[in-house]
Formats: sequence, structure tokens, C-alpha cells
Amino acid sequence: MMEEQLKQAVDARRTFAIISHPDAGKTTITEQLLLFGGAIRNAGTVKGKKTGNFAKSDWMEIEKQRGISVTSSVMQFDFDGKRVNILDTPGHEDFSEDTYRTLMAVDAAVMVVDTAKGIEAQTKKLFQVCRMRGIPIFTFMNKLDRDGREPLDLLEELEEVLEIDSYPMNWPIGMGKGLEGIYDLFHNRIELYHPEKYDGERFIPLNEAGEIEGEHALAKDSIYSQVLEEVELVREAGNEFDEAAIAAGELTPVFFGSALTNFGVETFLETFLQFAPEPSEHKTQEGEEISPYEEDFSGFVFKIQANMNPAHRDRIAFVRICSGEFERGMDVFLERTGKKIKLANVTQFMADTRENVENAVAGDIIGLYDTGNYQIGDTIYTGKLKVAYEELPQFTPEMFMKVTAKNVLKQKSFHKGMEQLVQEGAIQMYKTYHTNDYIIGAVGQLQFEVFQHRMLNEYNTEVIMTPMGKKTARWIDPEVLDEKMSSSRNILVRDRFDQPLFLFENEFAMRWFNDKYPDVELKALL
Ligand code: GDP
Repeated sequence: MMEEQLKQAVDARRTFAIISHPDAGKTTITEQLLLFGGAIRNAGTVKGKKTGNFAKSDWMEIEKQRGISVTSSVMQFDFDGKRVNILDTPGHEDFSEDTYRTLMAVDAAVMVVDTAKGIEAQTKKLFQVCRMRGIPIFTFMNKLDRDGREPLDLLEELEEVLEIDSYPMNWPIGMGKGLEGIYDLFHNRIELYHPEKYDGERFIPLNEAGEIEGEHALAKDSIYSQVLEEVELVREAGNEFDEAAIAAGELTPVFFGSALTNFGVETFLETFLQFAPEPSEHKTQEGEEISPYEEDFSGFVFKIQANMNPAHRDRIAFVRICSGEFERGMDVFLERTGKKIKLANVTQFMADTRENVENAVAGDIIGLYDTGNYQIGDTIYTGKLKVAYEELPQFTPEMFMKVTAKNVLKQKSFHKGMEQLVQEGAIQMYKTYHTNDYIIGAVGQLQFEVFQHRMLNEYNTEVIMTPMGKKTARWIDPEVLDEKMSSSRNILVRDRFDQPLFLFENEFAMRWFNDKYPDVELKALL
């Protein structure tokens, strides 16, 4: 590609993730977006993955589920001259560190909130990762066709719980059975929920004062005057629309709508694409910023998905392209080892098919078939100058298991498997002081299942895992550590870098520790 062409292609990319708590409507809205983009023809295509009854011990089922979730890991379509990449952030039993890491590979996030429930636990966690990265966050307040909480109340919650300023792009006119539409502050128009109830026109333009000009049946409804009052209040007392603050992730534009009835979704998509950022520079470990328009190709691995089918040991390493253009068959350097690798077997992911990709540019995601070359956080690049992107953060695990090899004669492969899976980023590993028992930690149950399965299939080692339940993990400076600090309510362990940490029974046990040792600082990862 010529320089100018490359720049145009990169500038058209919009790469984002949708974050939400399970059941807020992420799948439903994703499907609507794919329908608008023409990437799928029928609603229900993405949804299908949830209908299968999921038995944890049934690997065929998991394989089926994983198989489908591979194809929906990245969904790409064109809309309004933009090439849109949506990265899936699995919740429920699929939740894992990869869910967090995916947020390292996007340029923006869409936060879907159920208006009846407000901000829920998982949304909050995912939000915090986005916040840390300073990427723009757009909010879609979903399920307006049902009775939910007052809009003002929801905006207040955003500010209080997530500590982010908000700007309502539109305002609901009624909700549930009484939903009439949205008052679109940004476009200065009303979008009707039931245009057929009126004259069939979906949009009512507003005059400079923000009111309906002339006759319209809606203007006679008491809900209309109530909304005008609310909007006036928001305009006077609320935040200003500020593009720079949105870009910095300090202000979230809020859209109301109903994904299920496809109301407000198109307006959301159009406006979102207008303000969502194109790919920007990525920082290297040396602090250099690499431009996405750079001719040399570079990217980093943010997720590795193992194939759960024993007959296929292959994995897929997901790479976010940070600069230049990928071309089939190109040679790249793997920075960690210095090894040259030919990128021949590469996949790009569509909603309902896996397609071979011919080329892709900065902002896009490619999936490399992997037989064990890659680790999470690896950089690959072309060109004379070595590139190493910043390390991906580690996330504080929340669930723990004691783990041993079932067969004592298998110690060697047990250790090898442990070491490699930990290095690859599949699981976190700790050892207890003195007894050197192995403990593994994860943010989601799925990580344990994948671990156990891969130990058996790739390292021929059956492992016994004893659940220890949820723990609050906190690191302590080795200089101030006194082993007497360990009590019956915490376990003292070291991580794989030999750094000490406590696994507290719960938050109370941690606070009790804080009270007892007020000068000792405890640290979490992200
Ligand atoms: P996810 O877990 O976040 O992917 O949520 P889903 O998209 O699977 O939605 C969870 C449930 O909420 C499903 O039964 C959806 O049909 C329903 N749902 C999603 N969006 C809406 C909406 O706008 N209105 C209503 N009433 N239900 C919705």
C-alpha cells in the first residue's frame, strides 16, 4: 500500500469493545450493530451461543462453545465509510484475564447499562481498566422499553460510582409502556418510538429553542412538557459537550435506547463512529510512540485461545496491529526470542464465519495459528529497528485453587506445564512459604478449566485442584514483611517473581490487617 492509502485505511478503522455486566444486553446490541453493518442477516446469529446447555464437565460442549466464541471474538464490518472492529469481552463462565487484556487492544469502549439495574459489578471492573488506559468510553443505557430508573438518577450513579462526568446525548421521553421516544439533544431532534402512532415520520426536527415547531400530537402530551423541563435542567446544571474530554475518557456521552426493539441503536452507532477515535500511537518499553502510519508492520499479542479439542492442539494468538500493514506470508520478528516467523496461517474473524485474511492494517486484529511460539504481551514486527511494546498489566486474581499432580511420577511434566502455562499468561501461580505448595489464581472459573484440560492434553498430567474459594490478594514490600504477620485469616505466598503477597480470606480480614499494621502498605495489581 502507498503511504497515502495506508493512512486512509488506518484512519477509517474504529476498534472498540463493548463492556457490560451479564444480561445488560451486550449480545443484543452487538447483533444490531452487525445487522446495520450487513455482517449478519438474521438476529440470533450471535445469540445462538447461549442457548446450548452448558455442562462444565462436558468438554464437547465447551469446545462447541469455544469454537463459536472464537469466531465472535472479533467482529468486523463496514459502516458509513468506516471499518469497524468489535472485540468481544466474554462474561459469565467465559470471564477470564483475557477479557481484561482485550481492553488493552481497543481504542474505545462502549458501556452497556441496564436502566433498571444501573452500574453492576462486572461493568465497574471492566470500566476501571478502560479508565486506567484513558480511552474514550461511550455509554448506552439499555432496555428503555421497560420500566427502569430515572435518567437523572442513572447519570448521578455514573458520576458517583464510576467517577466519570457524563453528557446525555439524548433524553428518554417516557419509558416502559409509556415510551414515546428520545429527545436528541445532540442532533436537536426527537426520535419517535412509535412513528406510526403519529404521522409516520421517525424524526421531528426542533427549532432553535429546542421545541417542536408548529403542530404535532406529541406536543400536546404532558410527557413532552415534562421532558422539556428535564432537558432544560440538564442543559443548565449538567456538563458541557466537550470533545477533548470525551477523547481523554473523562466525559462519557450517554445514549438511551432499547437494543431489543432496535430503538436508538442506529443513532448511537452513527454518533459513536463520529467521535470514536481512529488508531493512534502505541508506546514501546523505551517510551517511544510508534505511529500507526509507520510503513513497518508491528503489533502485540493480547490474547491466546487454546483449542479445547484434543485432536487439535493449535491455539490462536490474537494480535492487535499497531503500525503498518499485514500481508499474507510476510516474515516478522518475534521480539522476545529474536526468531523470524512466517505469517502464513492467519485468520480474521467475522460474525458467522472465519475467513482468511489477505491484508490488514493498524487498528485491525489478526489471529495467528500458533503451535507454541507466542506468549501474552509478545511484540512482532518487521523492519530494521526492534520494537517491543509495553508489557500488558497483570490483573489481581480473585479465585484460587491448590494444585498437585495426581501421579507423583509425573512431577517433571507437571512443573514444565505449570511453568509454560504461567508464562503464556493462561493462569497465575503462587507458592506457599516453607511448604512450597502450588496455588493457582485466576479472575474467572474458565481459566481453571482450561488449565486442567491443557495440563492433561498438552503435558499429559492429570492435576488435582482443590478450591480455596475467593480471596483478596495483596502484595507487600519484602523489606517490611514479617512472617508473623501471617495469621489464620490469610495465607502468605510468593508469586513467580518471588514477590510476597497475602491471600486474605476476605475484605474484612484485609481491613483487620490494615488496622493492626497501619504503616504497612498493601498493593493490588489492576
Ligand atoms: P448480555 O448478557 O449482556 O449479552 O445480554 P443479552 O443481549 O443476552 O440480553 C439479556 C436479556 O435481555 C435477553 O433476554 C435480551 O432479549 C434482553 N434484552 C436485551 N436488550 C433489551 C432491551 O432493550 N429491552 C428488553 N426488554 N430486553 C432486552
